[in-house]
Amino acid sequence: MKIIPLAIPTPFYIGDVNVYLIKEEPLTLIDVGPKTEEAANVLREKLRASGVALEDIRRIVLTHAHEDHCGLAKQVREAAKDAEIFVHNWETGHLFGRLAREEYKNLMLSAGVPLEVFDEIQKIYADVSLLTDKLNEGEFSALEDEMELEFASGSLKVLHTPGHTPGSCSFFREANRTLFAGDCVLKRITPNPMFAPDPFDAAKRFKSLAEFLVSLARIRALAPTLIYGGHGEPIFDFDEVFHRYVRAIDERQKDTVDSIEKTSGASAWETAKKLFPEAIGKGVHQFLAISEAVAHLDYAESQGKIAVEIKEGAEIYRKL
Ligand SMILES: [Zn+2]
Repeated sequence: MKIIPLAIPTPFYIGDVNVYLIKEEPLTLIDVGPKTEEAANVLREKLRASGVALEDIRRIVLTHAHEDHCGLAKQVREAAKDAEIFVHNWETGHLFGRLAREEYKNLMLSAGVPLEVFDEIQKIYADVSLLTDKLNEGEFSALEDEMELEFASGSLKVLHTPGHTPGSCSFFREANRTLFAGDCVLKRITPNPMFAPDPFDAAKRFKSLAEFLVSLARIRALAPTLIYGGHGEPIFDFDEVFHRYVRAIDERQKDTVDSIEKTSGASAWETAKKLFPEAIGKGVHQFLAISEAVAHLDYAESQGKIAVEIKEGAEIYRKL
């Protein structure tokens, strides 16, 4: 299976996104890049340099529906005469903006986030969501766990690996234990478990960190020898990355629990301000800080390290 990584520029802090061309019938792209003119041009040029015309792409498989990964999907599909797009049903970024729905607002307010802070973050994400075209019903198909994406010389197995987002998927080539992991496994940074409503009950939060740890264990059980991530270089030593992630998560769990005042307790918003003071007031970083605080508080609570109670509509965490 001929795999060609194509680095595509993004306007995000993280830098380039990795798109992967599987140069085999049916010609497939794993992720596509954000909807910017620059990304569209670079994608077209890099495909051409690899001997492929954008118009010949037959299938687009999305690791997840963040704008830097999925933005150009509709454009590529249209240029390539209705190439098939695959994305997991628990993703929403290709359907509507990240914080566009009422349930986000309710969940953020119950995390103690002030309304004016929520409004500010929502405004920023309204701009970010312009970096993707919305897909309509009938323009994409569902990725399902364990489903096989067939190619002329073999297949990629779909693994639902939630955590970074509810519908994040990885793709595994059993023959040489190669994994495409999207933003589930990245070489240089520990992926951020993003704040999201639960796909089954939007009034609840998705337990992103608990899900992420299960996904990491599942990937580890496959003993991958090569991982292609959504950003940065490929990973040849997953065990090293795995242990590094677990250590970082353990440390942050400790910092999170330690940050809670003994008598007054703390909301997720107060915890975010304490853990990441430099991110407060800084757009997307502020949202990432809230995501991280919420993910760690939820996980600490599920592990019996802290307790939660509702006070005036907001969740207050207390030490046990
Ligand atoms: Zn992402």
